[in-house]
Amino acid sequence: MNIRNVAIIAHVDHGKTTLVDQLLKKSQTLEDREKIDDRVMDSNQLERERGITILSKNTAVNYKGYKINILDTPGHADFSGEVERIMTMVDGVVLVVDAFEGTMPQTRFVLKKALEYNLKPIVVINKVDREFARPDEVINEVFDLFIDLDANDEQLDFKVAYVSALKGTSSMDSDINTQKPNMDAVLDLIISEIPEPNVELDGPLQFQGSLLDYNEFVGRMAVGRIKRGTIKTNEMVSILRNDGSRKQFRIQKLYSFLGLQKQEVLEASAGDIVAVAGLSDINVGETLCTIGFEEALPPIHISEPTVEMTFGVNSSPLAGTEGKFVTSTKIEERLMREVQKDVSLRVKRVGAGEEWTVCGRGELHLGILIENMRREGYEFQVAKPKPIIKVIDGIEYEPFEYTSVDIPNDSVGTVIDLLNRRGGILEEMNNGMSQTRLIYTIPSRGLIGISTDFMTASKGYGSLSHTFLEYRMIESVDVGSRKLGVLVATEQGKTTTYGIGQIEDRGVLFVEPNTLVYEGEIVGECNKEEDLAVNVIKTKQLGNQRSANKDNTVVLKRPRMMPLEVCLEYINDDELVEITPKSIRLRKKILDTVERKKFDSKRLALKKEGK
Ligand code: GDP
Repeated sequence: MNIRNVAIIAHVDHGKTTLVDQLLKKSQTLEDREKIDDRVMDSNQLERERGITILSKNTAVNYKGYKINILDTPGHADFSGEVERIMTMVDGVVLVVDAFEGTMPQTRFVLKKALEYNLKPIVVINKVDREFARPDEVINEVFDLFIDLDANDEQLDFKVAYVSALKGTSSMDSDINTQKPNMDAVLDLIISEIPEPNVELDGPLQFQGSLLDYNEFVGRMAVGRIKRGTIKTNEMVSILRNDGSRKQFRIQKLYSFLGLQKQEVLEASAGDIVAVAGLSDINVGETLCTIGFEEALPPIHISEPTVEMTFGVNSSPLAGTEGKFVTSTKIEERLMREVQKDVSLRVKRVGAGEEWTVCGRGELHLGILIENMRREGYEFQVAKPKPIIKVIDGIEYEPFEYTSVDIPNDSVGTVIDLLNRRGGILEEMNNGMSQTRLIYTIPSRGLIGISTDFMTASKGYGSLSHTFLEYRMIESVDVGSRKLGVLVATEQGKTTTYGIGQIEDRGVLFVEPNTLVYEGEIVGECNKEEDLAVNVIKTKQLGNQRSANKDNTVVLKRPRMMPLEVCLEYINDDELVEITPKSIRLRKKILDTVERKKFDSKRLALKKEGK
């Protein structure tokens, strides 16, 4: 069969995008007139900044009469469900490794999954043109990594292509002088090493969607690999639904992949990866069959949402001043569009329509949605992420996750300490030569906001993945909430050096001088447990010239940077994060200082009475 399906795995900056560019250019997939942009695969700027791929994209290359589908893999733990679904569509993986930097821990998780799915790996050592490139050593590192990840003998026998994606050259030999001005070494290896799809060309249709896609013309689509037979536009098919029911519908449009585009096709055969449109609520895992030959493929596990967050229309005094889309209609439209292509996302309107409950796989999953919306020009506010609680017979249950971490041996102590504090239960521990794997069950609550602490605890060399396990009764362990109060502005206006200087010794500021703030905005962290209302817009009464001059030379400490993820894990129940294209602000739900103090003392009194 002349189709090959591969997933591509690379640590950020190791050259995946450049490589895919070159594969497209050098394979003559595209006509010369179809110029491709640089930066093909991860068009999403956000992914670049966070060092992970978020939305997997498909690319396809024609080479020597073969069609090669290349699927991108997201690298973060919140997307482990998606990684697994991608692994079911491919027969091999291309691991891209920088010839100088060598293997990086962040790719371990995806690679491990690929090996578990018995996929055949090939290795691309990229950037061989780099000064100090050390391809032979890096190959040894890859080999050690594969052993560490329990690769089988066939997988350990991986083939290697040496590449400069930048220059568009490749070779099967590590000697730089053997580089040829094409990508044949990579493409030939894909064809010879990666097995052909394990599918049946003849027989009634069987197709299962593994991912969702969406466009405004045809709505939702299922993307998957055809397991048996042929699928044709306009044909009536049967669908075996996840809820056990059956339905018939007409294939309205069919797309296969070529280059960077989806291309409309009239039919496609077993082995190929296609997007199918025609049923507006089609879902991942459902099987399409020829009518009369209904036979379901094994169900696909869809990761349950475990974390919820309330999104709301921005209600701050600065609402509407920085964003393009601010109304509830616009926000709701945008959220609903996201639901169409993300199986692990749920959105429910709360009450009159100024608020929505948005459920996802983790705070990073929701954080990316928030960041994308912000960049598209939306303005809104969100509350603290919380685990999704279920009440059965009056008893509350919370989600627990199966969590697997790989860490260097010398950080085992600190990581165990961290996970225990977060309510985790150590289930298993495997020591490798240099790495240790810990298996934990942990409440989702304990995973919220863990990434920064985990990176610190493992000195940046750990990887953590989690999948939903089950609901368990809530035990009231504190998983580490904020210990300190906040500094809250009492007035609207621009912050002054003087005002900030006056309160510097009361805590850590989040804002610089000359920043517009409002009453109720959180401008810093207090060094006491209680909140403190502060005036940061105060100007100095100009008494005599000397002290006015002195004020000019006041040197303030640098404010603490509060990026979105940090804000999301930072806030308490009585606080919100305000998000606009220009700013991310922390605020109290109750902005009025007097009102809030009344509310707080009432709450304190209730707490003392033990309610
Ligand atoms: P990605 O994050 O894995 O998609 O990596 P990119 O393709 O964006 O590449 C990251 C950086 O490495 C860019 O600045 C590229 O120009 C550079 N790069 C990619 N391939 C090569 C190569 O073969 N040699 C050299 N010297 N630089 C490369």
